[in-house]
Amino acid sequence: MDDEEIVRFIKERLQKRKLEEMNKELREWMEEQGIKIEKEGKEEEEKIEGKCEICEIREAKYRCIRCGKIACMSCFWSMLGICKECITEKQMKELKEQHYF
Ligand SMILES: [Zn+2]
Ligand SMILES: [Zn+2]
Repeated sequence: MDDEEIVRFIKERLQKRKLEEMNKELREWMEEQGIKIEKEGKEEEEKIEGKCEICEIREAKYRCIRCGKIACMSCFWSMLGICKECITEKQMKELKEQHYF
């Protein structure tokens, strides 16, 4: 992935997150108002078991939405849902320096 692609990916991801948060607030508001909400599909998170596929040391807790690998907390950007193999710390640092966040 080149830098431009990463930036686009991150921006889309952050936008989607904001939307999800908004929906959550709306849902809570509706519940407060006593408005019945149909439970939409399954919301439960995928159960991730096994060793981190990046460091192969710690237990994996997340799955990368890009490459599908499972990763531990230290090998994963939980904010983005992407492992550190897809976006390295160096790339992340550069992006931060360029004020993409
Ligand atoms: Zn790891
Ligand atoms: Zn990945």
